[in-house]
Amino acid sequence: MRKRAFVFALLVIVSIPGSAGATPNPIASGPTGVPVVALTFDDGPHQRETPLLLDILEKHGVRATFFIVGTRAVDHPDILSEIVAMGHGVANHSWSHRNMPLLDRQAMYQEIAFCSQAIEAIAGIRPKFFRPPGGNWNGALLDVSSDLGLSLVLWSVNAYDTSNTSAEDIASLVIRRAGPGSIILMHGGMENTMLAIPDIIEGLRAKGLLFATLDQMFRFTPAARSPLPPKIPVETAFQGFPLLSPATTFTE
Ligand code: ZN
Repeated sequence: MRKRAFVFALLVIVSIPGSAGATPNPIASGPTGVPVVALTFDDGPHQRETPLLLDILEKHGVRATFFIVGTRAVDHPDILSEIVAMGHGVANHSWSHRNMPLLDRQAMYQEIAFCSQAIEAIAGIRPKFFRPPGGNWNGALLDVSSDLGLSLVLWSVNAYDTSNTSAEDIASLVIRRAGPGSIILMHGGMENTMLAIPDIIEGLRAKGLLFATLDQMFRFTPAARSPLPPKIPVETAFQGFPLLSPATTFTE
């Protein structure tokens, strides 16, 4: 009995979160030594738009990564399962899309953990990447996501598709700015984004770029991360982004 207690105590000691090393920086882009980019779509699943988006991606033979909002996953479990079945990556975009740096650590923990649990319960996949809503983060959030086994991912190319940008402008901006290692931020519920996708795929392929999920991009080069400045001012990161109050729930 005493021996069992000792083994348990040892397990507790070696599994203390954070004991493996310092918290890593957020990921903004992938390795630049290979001509690979990652398309990422935030805020889904969306009842109408996500199936259309999946059709477009399938037609062009492209795999992308979907940053899932937990409450939406619970509302549309069949669509989340379809995303996974079609070979796309799924990642964590919080439980209810709140402005994370305004939360205390316990609320941060719940926002991230609940989303991962919902995704795992529905699709059988435990996400490896977490993107905070609006790209807003601080040191506490970095610690919490790391403790939960998730890498905090931002982006290197913003399509600005939440600000009434035309499909033509979205496509030309992304094609112009993307290169090897780019992580491209888009939103799955936007009409103009879907209209832009075929041109984006064609334009990036013309630049010799291939498409991968984030899991594929980082599978063999987990250390290939681009560190960012330690903090992005919330006002700057939040420009043009729809702020949701804590009580806000999504509607179709
Ligand atoms: Zn979002």
